[in-house]
Amino acid sequence: MPVDRLLPTDDAVDLIALTRDIADKVLDPIVDAHEKAETYPEGVFAQLGAAGLLSLPQPEKWGGGGQPYEVYLQVLEEIAARWLAVAEGMSVHTLACYPVFAFGTEQQRKRHLADLVGGELLGAYCLSEPQSGSDAGSLATRATLDGDTYRINGTKAWITHGGVADFYNVFARTGGPGPSGISCLLTDADTPGLHPLPQERTMGLHSSTVAPIVFDDARVPADRLIGPEGIGFKIAMSALDSGRLGIAACAVGLAQAALDYAVEYAKQREQFGRPIAEFQGLGFMLADMATQVAAARALYLEGARLRDAGRPYSAEAAKAKLFATDTAMRVTIDAVQVLGGAGYVSDHPVERYLREAKVLQIFEGTNQIQRLVIARSLTR
Ligand SMILES: Cc1cc2nc3c(=O)[nH]c(=O)nc-3n(C[C@H](O)[C@H](O)[C@H](O)COP(=O)(O)OP(=O)(O)OC[C@H]3O[C@@H](n4cnc5c(N)ncnc54)[C@H](O)[C@@H]3O)c2cc1C
Repeated sequence: MPVDRLLPTDDAVDLIALTRDIADKVLDPIVDAHEKAETYPEGVFAQLGAAGLLSLPQPEKWGGGGQPYEVYLQVLEEIAARWLAVAEGMSVHTLACYPVFAFGTEQQRKRHLADLVGGELLGAYCLSEPQSGSDAGSLATRATLDGDTYRINGTKAWITHGGVADFYNVFARTGGPGPSGISCLLTDADTPGLHPLPQERTMGLHSSTVAPIVFDDARVPADRLIGPEGIGFKIAMSALDSGRLGIAACAVGLAQAALDYAVEYAKQREQFGRPIAEFQGLGFMLADMATQVAAARALYLEGARLRDAGRPYSAEAAKAKLFATDTAMRVTIDAVQVLGGAGYVSDHPVERYLREAKVLQIFEGTNQIQRLVIARSLTR
């Protein structure tokens, strides 16, 4: 059942209608086949880009859609309800464009932004490493200035779009230990010495590519350094504040899809001579699911509205990510329960939804890390 949204402008109403139309025509017909065959949906991101959906929150001045974050996130939620891997890909692309928008020089913006948000290129965000996940400030990949290039050496882990991205925002150490030694480099995928390794086999998001990336003396022009040396960690964390709202919206979309499927099933399936939806034990379960989804949506919208108003929103983004992804986990587990045995087989999408929900509690900062962010904001 489509969510009845309160949208701030007529533009936003049209955008949601366009998104639903694209989801009906482009995503729905192929999602199951790709998820089952574990294949990357070649061409799908280009179609979303051509429709303007890959650049919604970026300023119009730089070729973006100029939409409030509140609207961008609701588009993301609509896509996630149809195909989480694609919504996650949109969110990661937005994360990858963010450093140039927010921290690039005027010259870098002029040179790169039109391409980055043009809809044809796909971006990746390279922060995690085999030995540094939650403790990103301890990353070991090094970028050494050599004349007018940086030579990057090291290995990045779990990179979404690894091997299919056109550009990578790489966080690497240009200085001493700790967060203040980290810088950010906008790196083209065809940089000699940048080698994606074979894709990881994941529990869910089977059509998404996730791969380690090895940098073996990869030479990146020095003018690709985003911001001055040493502010890379600040860029990475600032990007994640925005990205976490995106993951929250993805989680709400997934949970809404699971809820809708469970409700329809419960109305059709009969036991003891009546639809199972009429049993209070199940009806209450559906009521709790619906309430949690609504609360999670309200939380991410609150964070987005603060962001749109230029107010601090870091703790709100963490709360939204924490609550929405825990909600997606609970709601997808309950959706499987509502379907009984049918929920456990892959003929119904709730089995996939449950597998997909888990990663939302892990990436862009695990939910333990979100609690750290929230707790710090309370005592600061
Ligand atoms: C499918 C997928 C896609 C990903 N995509 C990307 C990507 O595009 N770019 C990217 O850079 N990374 C990406 N990641 C990596 C992801 O962000 C990390 O997996 C995540 O940040 C956790 O790091 P870790 O796996 O090293 O776990 P660890 O940091 O080793 O954590 C292990 C456990 O310890 C807990 N823990 C750690 N520190 C603390 C603490 N201080 N207090 C309490 N608990 C703690 C964690 O919560 C977790 O439960 C992706 C991961 C996956 C699975």
